[in-house]
Amino acid sequence: MKPATATISGSALRHNFQLIKSFAPDSKVCAVVKANAYGQSIGFVTKTLEDMVDAFGVARIKEALEIQESGFAGKIILLEGFFDREELLKTLSRRFDTVVHCIEQLELLEQVAQEWLNEKEKGFWQRKTKIYFPITVWLKIDTGMHRLGIDPEQVELFYQRLKHCVLVKEIKFISHFSRADEIESDYTEKQIKMFEQAVQPYSEERSLSASNGILYWPQAHYDWVRPGIIMHGISPHQQPISDLGFQPAITLSSSLIAVRNHKAGEPVGYGAGWVSPRDTKIGVVAIGYGDGYPRNAPEGTPVLVNGRRVPIVGRVSMDMMTVDLGLDSQDKVGDEVILWGRDLLIEDVAKAIGVINYELITKLTPRVITEYTT
Ligand SMILES: *Cc1c(COP(=O)(O)O)cnc(C)c1O
Repeated sequence: MKPATATISGSALRHNFQLIKSFAPDSKVCAVVKANAYGQSIGFVTKTLEDMVDAFGVARIKEALEIQESGFAGKIILLEGFFDREELLKTLSRRFDTVVHCIEQLELLEQVAQEWLNEKEKGFWQRKTKIYFPITVWLKIDTGMHRLGIDPEQVELFYQRLKHCVLVKEIKFISHFSRADEIESDYTEKQIKMFEQAVQPYSEERSLSASNGILYWPQAHYDWVRPGIIMHGISPHQQPISDLGFQPAITLSSSLIAVRNHKAGEPVGYGAGWVSPRDTKIGVVAIGYGDGYPRNAPEGTPVLVNGRRVPIVGRVSMDMMTVDLGLDSQDKVGDEVILWGRDLLIEDVAKAIGVINYELITKLTPRVITEYTT
């Protein structure tokens, strides 16, 4: 009888990746695999996609190191750049691409470049065991997200300084949408316009679109797209994307570890928050918030038992949850329970709980067993 298990389908990942390429046929693809590939296992996802991607994108240098050390020799982009001097030195010796989004990063880069030049003049660099390579810098422009990035008016200054930095091999431009899931809003159009004005004087490559941009803003695909969640067949907003041809790549399942007769008027679980209006059978499922399933999932949140949607009743506890199977149900101890996946869309579960899809998948804990299928 299996406990909480995430089953990840390699063929679904590859299918979704091909579909993304058909959405943005003229763009290179940076597959974003930060946060353990959105909680889905960075090792498996990168191995599955490595022959198809143009780069992998991550948010922490630890993630970049892990991908490189697993044998991937291609491009890896630090989407928030290096956080300190030590990380910059690693970035240079490992030849990672880095975002530069602020003056502190630029200054550090210039400082290390100057030291490198000084040592070179003195002949020290030949004796050094550490070798630094000029790298690609993605200059991040704030076009309206107001989180990371330089103002459009600063682009020329940063561009010139990067151009003159010996540790910079090439420059590319990057920005990020904040409301690209709102197809009716004109905010995205404004961001596109601001981006285009900012980069118009330059011939370097550009990147603006993550999942929502790929699906809904073809005019913003440019040279590189950066899909994250849609590679897993999961929507970047509330509505499912199966009608666009995406296949859910992950199924979260567990088992019934008890099936109990339950009397009308009796409560279930901590706090006795739910009281059964009728005689029924309660199924106890081996998954809880200790596995990353949200504790605040309200009564009525669906799970799938033997192909039937049944509601969670009572509070989700650390290792278990309880579901109302119904008086006439035939479900037995050991039967599989699906929390989300192909036959129970994660979008429906997220909506019932009131969280976003991203949060549900990235919060799974290491206790969840991960299984891979081809
Ligand atoms: C996380 C991230 C992405 C991917 O976002 P999705 O919405 O999952 O496609 C792309 N670009 C940057 C800079 C990111 O941080």
